[in-house]
Amino acid sequence: NMANVAFIGLGNMGGPMAANLVKAGHSVTVFDLSEVACKTLAEAGATVAASASEAAREVDYVISMLPAGKHVAGLYLGADGLLAQLDGHTTVLDCSTIDAATARQVGEAASAAGIGFMDTPVSGGVAAAAAGTLAFMCGGGADTFEKAKVILADMGKNIFHAGPAGAGQVAKGCNNMLLAIHMIGTCEALEMGARNGLDPKVLSEIMLASSGRNWSLEVYNPYPGVMEQAPASNDYRPGFMVDLMVKDLGLALEIAEQSEFENPMGQLARKLYAEHQFAGNGARDFSSILQKLQA
Ligand code: NAD
Repeated sequence: NMANVAFIGLGNMGGPMAANLVKAGHSVTVFDLSEVACKTLAEAGATVAASASEAAREVDYVISMLPAGKHVAGLYLGADGLLAQLDGHTTVLDCSTIDAATARQVGEAASAAGIGFMDTPVSGGVAAAAAGTLAFMCGGGADTFEKAKVILADMGKNIFHAGPAGAGQVAKGCNNMLLAIHMIGTCEALEMGARNGLDPKVLSEIMLASSGRNWSLEVYNPYPGVMEQAPASNDYRPGFMVDLMVKDLGLALEIAEQSEFENPMGQLARKLYAEHQFAGNGARDFSSILQKLQA
């Protein structure tokens, strides 16, 4: 089922995602502020447009993958925004990780204009984007979700309907807050064991077979040498960068504040990751937080 797709934002994530849509046989028109990014997609078989509006003309889907909420608001809202130019035929999917408030705002504007919109942030990094194995967490109406699934399936494998507009961003915020917390907890437990003479590999085996078991321990052990393929055994090369974890924790804290919810563990995780970033570790893998605890 070939679709006409406009793809806006061809960075580290959007580039390979758009290329996968081309590979799946869709007719893809792209736009990015970076000419280099556009050229890469032209070589992959996409058509390059001179603007986002031009790319979005008479398409079945507009998909965006941009840095932050202000870019997404700038693309869709206002008199010059895409929502003022599209009609009800087009489904809009924003895959960017942004604040839930902006996602809800774009969702409301889309529904006022009679356009189906979903926030569809992803879990999985550049490797998953290239392999087409991303997970999508979607916020919006049930009809829109049916349309979204068809096209998102060509860029990922697990596609969830989290709830109404903004719910995708909330789901992502909850997940990444928990990820930060159990990564720090895992580091703390391993380091305490090591300081008391335990071999981190043996302690990891014990906790994996016990109630401390979690994803960080299972597939992403933060202690160097325990797991050969983990970033910890590769000088903490990412993986998932500290910079991105700090961004996602900031968004999670905004969600907590706006719902007047106290999240003490999330706040502490964000403080620790922000300090780790400030100390010069922004581009390293997020499991390097172990070294902050060791210092
Ligand atoms: P990136 O900075 O590599 O790419 C963003 C692209 O958007 C750039 O090419 C930039 O030129 C383009 N852009 C910015 N404003 C634009 C506009 N108005 N019109 C057209 N193009 C515009 O970022 P990325 O790593 O691809 O991340 C994109 C989003 O995905 C972010 O929200 C990020 O948090 C999220 N994310 C990233 C990862 C990751 O591992 N990199 C994982 C999950 C989610």
